Amino acid sequence: MGSAASSSYRSIHLDVDGRIQKVVFSRFCSPCDIKELFCTAVGLPRNTTISLMDSTGAMVSIDPTIPKIMSFYAFKINELKTEVTNRLAMLEKRVELEGLKVVEIEKCRSDIKKLREEMASRNNRSVQLSTFQHLLCPTLYEYECEYGLLLSNDMGLTIFVKTTIIPYHLSKETIDALRQPIFDVWQWEPNEMLSCLEHMYHDLGLVRDFNINPITLKRWLLCIHDNYRNNPFHNFRHCFCVTQMMYSMIYLCNLQEKFSQLDILILMTAAVCHDLDHPGYNNTYQINARTELAVRYNDISPLENHHCAVAFQIFSQPECNIFSNFDAEAFKQIRQGTITLILATDMARHGEILDSFKQKVDSFDFTNEEHVTCLKMVLIKCCDISNEVRPMEVAEPWVDCLLEEYFMQSDREKAEGLPVAPFMDREKVTKPTAQIGFIKFVLIPMFETVMKLFPQIEEVMVQPLRESRDRYEELKQIDDAMNEVRHQ
Ligand SMILES: [Zn+2]
Repeated sequence: MGSAASSSYRSIHLDVDGRIQKVVFSRFCSPCDIKELFCTAVGLPRNTTISLMDSTGAMVSIDPTIPKIMSFYAFKINELKTEVTNRLAMLEKRVELEGLKVVEIEKCRSDIKKLREEMASRNNRSVQLSTFQHLLCPTLYEYECEYGLLLSNDMGLTIFVKTTIIPYHLSKETIDALRQPIFDVWQWEPNEMLSCLEHMYHDLGLVRDFNINPITLKRWLLCIHDNYRNNPFHNFRHCFCVTQMMYSMIYLCNLQEKFSQLDILILMTAAVCHDLDHPGYNNTYQINARTELAVRYNDISPLENHHCAVAFQIFSQPECNIFSNFDAEAFKQIRQGTITLILATDMARHGEILDSFKQKVDSFDFTNEEHVTCLKMVLIKCCDISNEVRPMEVAEPWVDCLLEEYFMQSDREKAEGLPVAPFMDREKVTKPTAQIGFIKFVLIPMFETVMKLFPQIEEVMVQPLRESRDRYEELKQIDDAMNEVRHQ
């Protein structure tokens, strides 16, 4: 390796329980990439929050500029305590899940035994057990709290499958609040958010109507959680927010009266999956930096295409496939519907999608498939950028998260000599300037168009947006006045 090439790399030593591990990384790596590398080196999940300490116990920031001289020391990795607590909670969730699997297998065994006995008692030698195999599949166990389910096969045999009641540890207050946009999304740990998401699928009747195996649902959601990265903004909590807003809108707009359950399933599932494995750098960066994603998807919505692909890779694993009961045609519909909605979340297509919806809204027809698809696209867009609909205390921290992610990108763009968008530049943007234009020219016009179809969103969703706009305009006036004083 020549000197020019080697100077592009940094190497440091990590002290892993007394064992010294050398780690080499490019100085063009982002802090996030380096953290992930360190985690892998010491055997932690890649999105664990860690801190780095030198031999004196002083904390050292993790970024590509870790001074070269420091490479003589071995650093220690400290996992943050809250992270450990979170991981513990997640592991407990996993144990609970695995425990349910055991219960499920036991139940399956006992049902097989009962069926064998029933067949023997009917003394019908021509009946083969294989005929019943589909009834024994755990995916057919219906989730139902109050009553069981009668299943018939074509031979007239009726089997009563006693159902398993899965306890939720959600309080009644939480369950009620979950249906409203004012829900406080910050007070929950990942395992609690998972229980909330699971509850939504049950509550909307999706588990019942599509015969979704409740254990598979749990496993799928856990896998979804594991495939969101720890970005400042595009993380699992954002996925939760978007899905919770979708759930609120389904109730607020009585969507279950207007849409088929398949459409409801598509809306919810697309919301859950819509930012899977988001790397924290937007499409513009992907394209300008000619990343692997941009090359793979020919610069056409590289991120959104990737989110979709990851979603369906997850569904391709049988233990996570909540659609395993679907026939080919139904799966095709859910796949097409989900892809359309996730691809619609690319903000580069905002104008095109909103214009198309505006053309339909005055003579909207819920029996017209094209109209319904367009409305679903607008709904997921609304939910994706709906933070400002939430109360100020809930919405405002998200602006800090978004700016942190933007600044991470613009710093990297500057370091790599790529173009930097002014709205991402820490020298140019402030919270009020970032929000005012976005609320006035993107959010309010879109929500007001949806309001033509669902007037009930005015009070609950549009009014908070107007208030937020006014508040940021006041904040901007204060900022401007302060700047004027400073320059006098
Ligand atoms: Zn999103």
